Amino acid sequence: MIYSNKFLIIFLFAYLLLFSITGFTESISIKLEEADNVKSSNPSKFSELLSSLEEQKKLLDNEQRYYLRYLQAYQLAFSGKTEKSKTILKEILGSEASETIKFRSRLTLINFYAYNRNWADGLSNLTVLLEELPKINNEQYQNDGLALAAMFYNQIGQYSLGLTYANQLEKQTKDARQNCLAKMFKFESIFYTTDLKVDPIEIESAINACNKEPIAANLLRTYVAEMHIQDEQLEHANTLLLKYIHEVESVKYVRLIVRFYSLIAETYFKQSDFEKSAYYSNKTIEKAVNIPTTQGVINSYKFLYHIAKKQSDFSASLLAHEKYSQLNQSYIDEITAKHFAYQLAEHKSFEQQSKISLLNEKNTLLETKQALSEAEVANTRLIIMVLIISLLLFIFWAGRLYKAHKRIKELAEFDALTGIFNRGHFTQVATSTLRYCKSAEQDLSVIMFDLDYFKSINDNYGHATGDWALKETIKVCQNVGRKNDIFARLGGEEFCILLPSCHIRSAALVAEHCRSAIEDIVTEASGHDFKITASFGITDAKTSGFELEKLLADADEAAYDSKKSGRNRITVFTVEEEPEQKQLDSSWSIT
Ligand code: GH3
Ligand code: MG
Ligand code: MG
Repeated sequence: MIYSNKFLIIFLFAYLLLFSITGFTESISIKLEEADNVKSSNPSKFSELLSSLEEQKKLLDNEQRYYLRYLQAYQLAFSGKTEKSKTILKEILGSEASETIKFRSRLTLINFYAYNRNWADGLSNLTVLLEELPKINNEQYQNDGLALAAMFYNQIGQYSLGLTYANQLEKQTKDARQNCLAKMFKFESIFYTTDLKVDPIEIESAINACNKEPIAANLLRTYVAEMHIQDEQLEHANTLLLKYIHEVESVKYVRLIVRFYSLIAETYFKQSDFEKSAYYSNKTIEKAVNIPTTQGVINSYKFLYHIAKKQSDFSASLLAHEKYSQLNQSYIDEITAKHFAYQLAEHKSFEQQSKISLLNEKNTLLETKQALSEAEVANTRLIIMVLIISLLLFIFWAGRLYKAHKRIKELAEFDALTGIFNRGHFTQVATSTLRYCKSAEQDLSVIMFDLDYFKSINDNYGHATGDWALKETIKVCQNVGRKNDIFARLGGEEFCILLPSCHIRSAALVAEHCRSAIEDIVTEASGHDFKITASFGITDAKTSGFELEKLLADADEAAYDSKKSGRNRITVFTVEEEPEQKQLDSSWSIT
């Protein structure tokens, strides 16, 4: 290729100086920035600043430390310690440094690879660099990346890619130097891809744009010269090259000088001025002693071998031809190596892309699976929660329902004041008990009683006292009976006890206990002092049969008789031809 990376390093880094980041407030940041600014223009100041920063190293934060490392790598590169520099740059690339520092480090590293003709590593890093390019916010560094891509792709013969990046750089740069660089890369790409057909006006304007960049301007001139040679305008080409040869020699850029000399040799050779052609061919070879595998050198040996042959100097001709073939082969080998490197990088990039897309697919699948299982878990949780809530609600409502039902049942079955069976429920229970006793041929007795002069208790002491008396009466009577006796309030102050499997005499005894317990009630707790008594009537199934109505009517009749005969007594219902009922006074007892 026609220029080396040394040239590019000088070129690219020189203008970094013009566009440095500003705005750091801390002194260390200012110092770092200052060092960055002077790194190529003032090496001694640069070195001084780096030493002072190295001393303050402990005060640097992580990012500033990486920045310093980058500048140190730059310094090492500048002083020729490329291996050390490369090690640091690679270290930065594998670190937590910011995207920008990593980007700049990679850029420098690619320059090294290009300089060492390590196309494979250069290309793989360039691929990464170009992927990172859109993420870089600093326009200056972005443009550096574009310039590097254009240069690198042109160097390995991928001119259409080189052209793409050169065009992009030309479009977005506002800097004259970068603009010149972009044009130079652009015409190099066009020059080699269009078989030297470049618009002369355009190339002239590119040369003008590079008026402050002698290397670039003269490089562009060599394309013009080559076009003249192609068009057989050898005189034009020769004049142009000779006009600028001194300027070219003064910039001391070997590759450019070699290119100029070899083109001059070509113009003379094609004009059959073999002496001058041999002179410039030799000058070319001499100048390119360190870069022999160069097109210009190869051409020069070709001219020399033809010239020697024409002059019948066969040994010189053979020597030149050997050199020519050998270098030409190396040149071809290098082109092949570049081509392979590019293919390899392409392949790696494709492989990487495939891996990434495969990985993405896997990830998507995994994510979908995870989302599904998460949804499943969430659904299951939801279902369990709904079930638990439903169960709790069910238990709650069932509880409430049970309580309500119990309350309704109680209301329907029990007397609210005394807590014993009401008439309705009593009728039901009594009916089934009667049925059972009848079928089992069991005895059954009925006691009925009615409080005496109860109305007067209400009247004298109030309804509440009346209620109290009713409750006390039931309390004392409940203690007297058996567990399976059925005690009920038939209405008002009228009560009934149904005694299954109970002989009338035992019933009379129960009634008597009841009567005397009522009589013994101490009423002080009600706040009044009065007497409670009741009149009792008793009958049994043997006398009244197993019909409830009849049993109740007979017991009631007996109770009525107790009332009639002075109250507070027990009367056993008897059936006689002349109904005459035996009455028992308070002293009645069963013996
Ligand atoms: P006798 O000795 O003839 O049975 O006289 P008595 O006053 O008890 O008879 P009566 O049937 O005239 O009076 C019954 C009274 O019982 C009338 C009513 O106000 C009262 N009574 C009925 N149910 C209740 C009740 O639940 N509480 C109260 N405090 N009084 C009631
Ligand atoms: Mg009554
Ligand atoms: Mg009464």
